[in-house]
Amino acid sequence: MALFAGFSFPAANAQRIPTWPDNKIAVSLSYDDALASQLDNAVPALNKYNFKASFYIVPNSANVQSRMGEWQALASEGHELGNHSLFHPCSASKASREWVSEEQNLDNYTAERAIREVLTANVFLQALDGKTQRTFTPPCFDTQAAQSDFIAPLRAHFIAIKGLDDDNGRSVLWAPSSVTGQQLIDYVKNVPEEVQLINMLFHGVGGDHLSVSVAAHAQLLDYLAANKERYYVDSYINIMNKQTKE
Ligand SMILES: [Zn+2]
Repeated sequence: MALFAGFSFPAANAQRIPTWPDNKIAVSLSYDDALASQLDNAVPALNKYNFKASFYIVPNSANVQSRMGEWQALASEGHELGNHSLFHPCSASKASREWVSEEQNLDNYTAERAIREVLTANVFLQALDGKTQRTFTPPCFDTQAAQSDFIAPLRAHFIAIKGLDDDNGRSVLWAPSSVTGQQLIDYVKNVPEEVQLINMLFHGVGGDHLSVSVAAHAQLLDYLAANKERYYVDSYINIMNKQTKE
């Protein structure tokens, strides 16, 4: 798993080497944090091309409560509601984490509490979409609470955990913000030969934080739609369920 600057992980238990039909490169478009601009801008763009994506929503977000019917509608349209924990805890002790509140500070959690909150988010999501299987994106990709790993015990509860699988360089993950459409396209175009899964992890689209513009996002989708013989775009759960194991 090659990641953009700023994130590095200990190697997880290596197990899967994903491949997809017709030797296509799988592309997972995902949208974290339950942001209004995703409902307003990303969803209409995805639906225009009939691309299915994954939305890692946080039940605690005001946008979940105020627009619950829209999140439910997404799921019924075939998008994935993914788990992104209950309260989005992150370690305040890491660099550029001034925004982490005391209550949200993962450094104050026990691993047991972190696990319990993630599993409680699953119950909430099941109430929204009726599904018992989904994938998880750890907030901030943090893996430790009180110096102990809380990710490993969660593996049994998810089809896959985004960003944490050691797959011999066969996948990449990028969380772009403030980039052009051409930069997004170039990233997809120029992944190393051995890459079979591209994770594009968005936050705001035309608003909110870490955002890309509506135009840049549309340009990427347009490129992917024009190159369907090369790229297989789907929700992360579908991609991981459809992989063929070698
Ligand atoms: Zn997040």
